[in-house]
Amino acid sequence: MVTKITLPETELPTHWYNIVPDLPVPPPPVLHPGTHQPVGPDDLAPLFPMDLILQEVSTERFVEIPEEVREVYRLWRPTPLYRAHNLEKLIDGPARIYYKYEGVSPAGSHKPNTAVAQAFYNAKAGVKKLSTETGAGQWGSALSFACALFGLDCEVFMVRSSYDQKPYRKAMIETWGATVHSSPSELTQAGRSILEGDPDTPGSLGIAISEAVEVAATDEDTKYSLGSVLNHVLMHQTVIGEETLKQLALVDETPDVLIGCAGGGSNFAGFSFPFVREKLAGTIDPVIRAVEPAAAPSLTRGSYQFDFGDTVGMTPLVKMHTLGHDFVPDPIHAGGLRYHGMAPLVSLLKQEGIIEAQALNQTDTFRRAVQFARAEGIIPGPEPTHAVASAMMEAERAKQAGEEKVIVFNLSGHGHFDMAAYQEYVGGSLADYEHPEERIAAAMERVPAVAG
Ligand SMILES: *Cc1c(COP(=O)(O)O)cnc(C)c1O
Repeated sequence: MVTKITLPETELPTHWYNIVPDLPVPPPPVLHPGTHQPVGPDDLAPLFPMDLILQEVSTERFVEIPEEVREVYRLWRPTPLYRAHNLEKLIDGPARIYYKYEGVSPAGSHKPNTAVAQAFYNAKAGVKKLSTETGAGQWGSALSFACALFGLDCEVFMVRSSYDQKPYRKAMIETWGATVHSSPSELTQAGRSILEGDPDTPGSLGIAISEAVEVAATDEDTKYSLGSVLNHVLMHQTVIGEETLKQLALVDETPDVLIGCAGGGSNFAGFSFPFVREKLAGTIDPVIRAVEPAAAPSLTRGSYQFDFGDTVGMTPLVKMHTLGHDFVPDPIHAGGLRYHGMAPLVSLLKQEGIIEAQALNQTDTFRRAVQFARAEGIIPGPEPTHAVASAMMEAERAKQAGEEKVIVFNLSGHGHFDMAAYQEYVGGSLADYEHPEERIAAAMERVPAVAG
């Protein structure tokens, strides 16, 4: 039995939701990397078009989605919400499990929700080219897709371990017309300095961000684009949660537990922030949980303090849960979750106790993702295996306790380009990495001291 809860196209959201005015405390300022003083919109102008900068600092609760962006969203949105009947049968307990599926976009993940918006605003501002980083290749492919639609050039720095592991993501990026480099590269000052210190580095998102920012900062016609972490990126993703709210209402369900995987925090935020709004307003009271890999445990084991978004220290300082900006995570398959920090807005909600966090090992997440695939058909990307596993564990707990829970999770993308990971799992060679405390402590020593 399949229950697919679809929304008619007329229900496509007209506005993005900005959580900032609903926060219990104001968000901390963003600080200049050199002076440690708060930055203003003008400081960010070399990197982003003004429309996006204004969204980054906006305190407006709802921001209208331009018709040109909604037009592109209609290619795959509204996305389906499924009830996981077969998975429920497998677990054989009283929980009802739903998942929102973002894998139906052209790039196969939630990332085009913001890529399309960012390409639109850059094209509108007359920008010629976007530079960016990509971990697993999902963001690079999403942005190259969006740039192709809006006539922009696109240059992608792809973390070396993924560049070597995921040749088809690279092919996809090139098919949409972008150029892609293995990062660290010889093309930038940042890349050369990292390679000098460690020629065999697997690379990291932090390093790739340094390279992409450098390209944008040194070229008049190029702006920089980030696929996660920033306020405006999280806001663009809220179409996921707004649709899910309506879909649950259609089947008369109230969620008890909401789950998303978290790397930089964008799919988790996009899925959960509209529910956080309802929770803060007192209309519902679900547990809201971000799930991260044990190999990159920023929310569960990092400290909440000011740190750089990149490795070299070119970006502004933001207050977030961090493992230290020069943290190089082990090469787990969930490349999109290998980031040293967490979105400031997600970090603040964790700090305030409004959301919770959990860290899981990849052998556990893949074991359950394979069960999920056999029950439900969809093969999850390595990142959302964390959400799948957490939801299944929650349903097993509900069974033990005899509780009739409604569990809803975000399936942020499919795993069709990540079959090497499943091959390792099925072949029995998938390994786990716990991030050792000494390495966290060593990286944290290099985080700048900021007064206050
Ligand atoms: C990039 C990516 C993630 C991780 O990024 P967030 O900003 O934390 O969402 C998760 N799932 C998929 C499918 C991705 O492509």
